[in-house]
Amino acid sequence: MAKSSNNIFDENYDAILKNISRAAKKSGRDCEDIILLAATKTVDVEVINHAIESGIKYIGENRVQEFLSKYEDYLPVNRHFIGHLQTNKVKDIIDKVSLIHSVDSYRLAEEISKQAVKRNISVDVLIEINIGDEQSKSGFTYDEAIDAVTKICKLEGIRVKGLMAIPPICNEPQQNRPYFAKMKKLFIDIASQKIDNSSMDILSMGMSDDYEIAIEEGATMVRLGTALFGRRNYNI
Ligand SMILES: *Cc1c(COP(=O)(O)O)cnc(C)c1O
Repeated sequence: MAKSSNNIFDENYDAILKNISRAAKKSGRDCEDIILLAATKTVDVEVINHAIESGIKYIGENRVQEFLSKYEDYLPVNRHFIGHLQTNKVKDIIDKVSLIHSVDSYRLAEEISKQAVKRNISVDVLIEINIGDEQSKSGFTYDEAIDAVTKICKLEGIRVKGLMAIPPICNEPQQNRPYFAKMKKLFIDIASQKIDNSSMDILSMGMSDDYEIAIEEGATMVRLGTALFGRRNYNI
């Protein structure tokens, strides 16, 4: 079982690196400019460690319980939290991850700040933008984004490193291109404001079906699960 999962990863990984490279060139960059984060929900630690041994340097989990049950067994790797984070769970992960992608409310940011101050640490975060204005998704709207970054940057113990988005689910990946382009514009707009205590370094967007398009439009980090590990049973 683990062996075949590892084989699936190996085949996928090679192809993905080539695709990333091609998409990066189209946007005037190199593959080194793009961070590939493996989204490892439901993936066994054994397979995750094989991925790390093969070159994966960033992994992202999106459920607190699952993350806590796995992280001590990972080989050395950058651990990110990418899922919706409930405020009462912040304390459980805050000192165990190097980046939280999913700051989707001011209340969550305040709790991260509170817990960071308590531990005398600084926490790197991305601000999640609900770029498709979807009722079902959390995150700040496009119009709220600058204000949100400005307010959240003022909180002690938080460093805003960029933006994250999950565009609407669609049948044809090209349909998301305008959302990715809009995110890139927002990213540049916010960077140009030079807001204290923020840096627009990371634009985290693009998943298995649309990462090449996201990179073409300016993503600096893509989060891939299915494309790397094969299809699994989960709900985002
Ligand atoms: C699961 C997940 C991904 C990866 O999704 P795939 O379509 O399997 O590549 C990316 N981002 C988040 C927040 C996720 O939960």
